[in-house]
Amino acid sequence: MTINDATRKLVQSRAKYLCEYCHSSEEASAAQFEIDHIIPRSFKGSDAPENLALACQRCNSYRYNFTTGMDSVTQETVPLFNPRQQSWSEHFIWTTDRLKIVGVTAIVAQRAIA
Ligand SMILES: [Zn+2]
Repeated sequence: MTINDATRKLVQSRAKYLCEYCHSSEEASAAQFEIDHIIPRSFKGSDAPENLALACQRCNSYRYNFTTGMDSVTQETVPLFNPRQQSWSEHFIWTTDRLKIVGVTAIVAQRAIA
């Protein structure tokens, strides 16, 4: 099933046109951001707005169809960040030079973050 225009606009607006995983701006991006399924379709995730998040291409491709990632400190498998159920600022901070996002909890934004 394809995400319709009304749902896409709702997801974009709800996210304030920012990637919900890295907070980059869709407006400043050369490419239109993608609609990520938090629970992937391959795991029977729905197209309902509560299962959708705005994601830049990089974050969406790193998340792929994963729902868990590896905590780099404990090496344990942990759930990926869920922007519908969790607050970004409780789990991540920007470095003072604003160049990197650092996880402050075991939740990871994407599978590739080490
Ligand atoms: Zn992103």
